[in-house]
Amino acid sequence: MAAMSLTFLGAAGTVTGSKYLVDLPGRRILVDAGMFQGEKEWRQMNWADFPVPPSSIDEIILTHAHADHCGYLPALVRDGFKGPIWCTYGTAKLASIVLMDAGHLQEKEAQYAQEGGYSKHDPALPLYTVADVEKTTPLFKVVPFDADFDLGKGIAIRMTRAGHILGSASVTLSTPEGSVLFSGDLGRIDHPVLRPRGTPPGSPYVLIESTYGDREHPDAKGLEHEAMADAVRRTIARGGSVLIPAFAIDRTEIVLKALTELREAGRIPVDVPIYVNSPMAVAALAVYREAEGRGELRDDIQPEDFFNLPNLREITDAEDSKRLNHPDHPSIIISSSGMATGGRVLHHLEAMLPDPRSCVIFTGYQGVGTRGRTLLNGVTEMKFRGRYVPVKSEIVSDGEFSVHADASDLIDWLRDLSPQPETVFVTHGEEGSSDAFAAKIRSELHLTVVVPRYKEKVSLTPHGTYAPLSPVPEPAAVAAPAPRPVPHPPSPGARLPVRNLPDTHADDIDEIAVILETAIGQVPFLPEAKQAEVSGLLHEVLGLVRAESPDLGTVREGVNLALYAAAGAVETPGGQSIVGLLAHVPKVLG
Ligand SMILES: [Zn+2]
Repeated sequence: MAAMSLTFLGAAGTVTGSKYLVDLPGRRILVDAGMFQGEKEWRQMNWADFPVPPSSIDEIILTHAHADHCGYLPALVRDGFKGPIWCTYGTAKLASIVLMDAGHLQEKEAQYAQEGGYSKHDPALPLYTVADVEKTTPLFKVVPFDADFDLGKGIAIRMTRAGHILGSASVTLSTPEGSVLFSGDLGRIDHPVLRPRGTPPGSPYVLIESTYGDREHPDAKGLEHEAMADAVRRTIARGGSVLIPAFAIDRTEIVLKALTELREAGRIPVDVPIYVNSPMAVAALAVYREAEGRGELRDDIQPEDFFNLPNLREITDAEDSKRLNHPDHPSIIISSSGMATGGRVLHHLEAMLPDPRSCVIFTGYQGVGTRGRTLLNGVTEMKFRGRYVPVKSEIVSDGEFSVHADASDLIDWLRDLSPQPETVFVTHGEEGSSDAFAAKIRSELHLTVVVPRYKEKVSLTPHGTYAPLSPVPEPAAVAAPAPRPVPHPPSPGARLPVRNLPDTHADDIDEIAVILETAIGQVPFLPEAKQAEVSGLLHEVLGLVRAESPDLGTVREGVNLALYAAAGAVETPGGQSIVGLLAHVPKVLG
């Protein structure tokens, strides 16, 4: 039997539901736990029993916070998964927001279906509940970028920036049996807001996404975002309002940045009110603002670039949200979800589609089977909550907002890997797109390329010899670190101001506590002689951080002492991880 195997439990034959199961002797790891979205045949898969008992999965690694990569987590937790969920700090923060929103939506949809009498279940059931989400977020454990992070028993992961959304990473999983690289979703070379993607270490086996594997983004000719600017101008001129469906995470931030620039350049009217109507987007905006302080944004970006809109109003209240459907003046409404698969944007579509003066501007990839794709295809009637409405509004697409790499970008990412892979698995694309991209890899890079089928299982025992990611230690005599809860998961429901910079002090303290907790989890991987000293110092600082009003100077000194002690064992996996983690604290403290 193969020592290491990989099973494709999602994002095979579709762009959603990313789930890759890695089986090792005595260890079972799941990379991503995405929800299926879009076409009904896939969505129904969310309700099927998971192919292996969730309690048999030891840990989960997340590439990023989009729901098609993390949205299935609460179902796994409800059904028995109890291990740690490893991810970057940005992903932990954003995924907590995404999941809480998903939990609310599931409950709401079940309630609407029950009231409207169109559910197939009686009573209508949510896929999972907010209570399930509350059991999930404490399992997040933060891993730094660009450092080999030891998961125990010779297994290490390395997160490399993927430049797709805040916190997004490619994941290199290195084990005594070999290594495998998961691209996650890859951004374009030049993300408008984030630091660019990096190049991960090569692995014999590489999984690469192929959302845009069959096309190239057009070079922006002339003025940026002219499709959107022009649509806004003519809609406002005829007295209509503009609806921009946008993913709450990342896309709303970029749309606001573009609107700010258009307004400053006088390319759209300056007096039009702009509403962000998505509690999730409002919470995510705060995370992006905070990310600036952690060095995750491009050097030329200031937080004001997203929010310098005098007419910007954020809507968190459901009643205000409904009132927006009949605004007094023409206005611009940004609402999620981006492919109109759920969320408040559905109310707006239902109200605005029958109005020929209004305009809907889509800002990204629209999956097969989603309302977004159907509208772009020119449908004339659309069903909402069991009833049809006519589609009379103008429908526009602004393709410049994509944060997915195109075919050439993806090839560049593969070409930069050293050593080159033995086998490339092309995933996360619609069939035509994955096949076209596989053909491109064969002809340009001359590699072995496979487009795996859903539930296909392959062996990951390499033919050749590859140096492991980091010196793989002998299986540690101690048990893997117990899951340590993130002490203060962000509260997604909180009302967050959009225009005023928040007091991020409490967030900083939370982040430092998370870093220290995670570092303590790595103590068992230090040489035994060092464990008591480093553990004592880390617990001491954690005590300081948790005090009523922590003294940051003393915290800084305490962290330095712990860093110094751990640096004495930097050649070991534990020392390396702890030094990597603690190095982030001064950045947080500023
Ligand atoms: Zn994504």
